[in-house]
Amino acid sequence: MSVALVWFRRDLRLQDNPALQAALAAGHEPLLVYVHAPDEEGAWAPGAASNAWLHRSLANLDADLRARGSQLVIRHGPSAAALQQLIAETGAQAVYWNRKYEPATQARDAALKRELRGQGIVAESHNGSLLFEPWELATQQGGPYKVFTPFWRTALTRWKLPVLSAAPAALPRPSISGVPLDALQLHPALAWDNGFWEHWQPGETGAHEALDVFVEGALQGYRQQRDLPDRVGTSLLSPHLHFGEIAPWHIATVLERQRTAANEADVNGYLRELGWREFSTHLLHHFPHTSERNLNPRFDRFAWTAPDPPLLAAWQQGRTGVPIVDAGMRELWATGYMHNRVRMIVASYLCKHLRLHWLHGARWFWDTLVDADLANNTMGWQWVAGTGADAAPYFRIFNPVTQAQKFDPEARYITRWVPELGALPLKARFAPWLFPALLADKALDYPRQPLVDLAQGREAALAAYQRV
Ligand SMILES: Cc1cc2nc3c(=O)[nH]c(=O)nc-3n(C[C@H](O)[C@H](O)[C@H](O)COP(=O)(O)OP(=O)(O)OC[C@H]3O[C@@H](n4cnc5c(N)ncnc54)[C@H](O)[C@@H]3O)c2cc1C
Repeated sequence: MSVALVWFRRDLRLQDNPALQAALAAGHEPLLVYVHAPDEEGAWAPGAASNAWLHRSLANLDADLRARGSQLVIRHGPSAAALQQLIAETGAQAVYWNRKYEPATQARDAALKRELRGQGIVAESHNGSLLFEPWELATQQGGPYKVFTPFWRTALTRWKLPVLSAAPAALPRPSISGVPLDALQLHPALAWDNGFWEHWQPGETGAHEALDVFVEGALQGYRQQRDLPDRVGTSLLSPHLHFGEIAPWHIATVLERQRTAANEADVNGYLRELGWREFSTHLLHHFPHTSERNLNPRFDRFAWTAPDPPLLAAWQQGRTGVPIVDAGMRELWATGYMHNRVRMIVASYLCKHLRLHWLHGARWFWDTLVDADLANNTMGWQWVAGTGADAAPYFRIFNPVTQAQKFDPEARYITRWVPELGALPLKARFAPWLFPALLADKALDYPRQPLVDLAQGREAALAAYQRV
């Protein structure tokens, strides 16, 4: 039987894995490999939280393979050299993989495909992570979409979910070995992630469990609850989706099976969020410069505040004096995750009230989020900053106090992550600087004043916007 390499990348699962299925369907003996080559991701090599997750996800994939008689062969990059070496060692006649869409690795993969085919090796890539590949949906003029609603409307007219496929029951033991997982040194130098793992279970089993928990629980009422950070109102599937531990069409199929008249709006609302994920990949594919530069070039002249390390550090560490912002930044540090509504609030505060360039925030999220994803992160930051596609207009500036009062009305989220405010009466927990005597008496450790006066910060941002 001929050997085929199945090259795992951002598809760390055995179910619904088109590359693995294709290798098996072609009658090959699959050799399952992971090549560690973070340098090939260009300016966006995975950050510390991503690496911590990746370590656990690879360990789980290897355990799942061993349970089937196989194991994962891990090698160090460069990817092309490592794959050529594996071909030489095993006589493999084919290489299968699922596509990644980040600009740097797309270019690498295209070159590699040409090289392998030039040698007479079968080189096949598949769609392992999207409902629609970035080039499948186009406007009537044939160009990329820049606005979500028509993008999603078109997507829904083309909605066709693939048949689900089970994980293979058994896989052959590889004839060669790789390096141990620990050799990749994915653990952070500073073990700040210890607290993460009570919240997360990386790997394919953890992904399916998270989906089950969501379907049994937060799916009912998702449309209303998804904006409330004080409860588990969302699926928490983002890191599993990022690492390809579950296919989006698997999630969509399970949800479609659950669809009833009563939960129609919740199911549609959830699928729409998966749609934003599709849209972000569409945007990054068609506008590959946007991970670094504004999509809207008008903002290239915007007067961002000069880099200010103490200001940025106060935001990063949750010491801004604005409770909802500090709560979000501390949730991020403690769990590797932040609720979507709060991501918008902290991002708006950084880009508008502090007027620091959105890239400062994008880079911090990149290093600290377990779901850090170049397409979603880029779109999220440019959307909030007002510099991106279909963005909130720059002049719509989130007021972090009224946002907190609306979405965390009992201040439960604030108090969970900023416990030093717990002794204050509820009304004082949203804007404690308005209650200086209480603050001095009951919350000595919390900043007396916000980093910037919210009204002045807003005016300065609007004035800078007027000049663009
Ligand atoms: C400034 C900023 C940065 C962000 N950075 C990232 C990031 O690096 N990685 C990331 O996965 N998401 C990012 N998001 C989007 C969103 O916050 C997360 O996807 C969401 O909070 C994940 O939680 P969940 O899985 O419970 O979401 P659910 O509400 O359960 O949504 C289901 C899935 O839909 C996708 N999704 C939901 N909202 C969005 C969105 N706004 N844009 C794109 N996809 C979405 C995610 O894959 C998510 O897992 C960012 C948003 C903002 C405002």
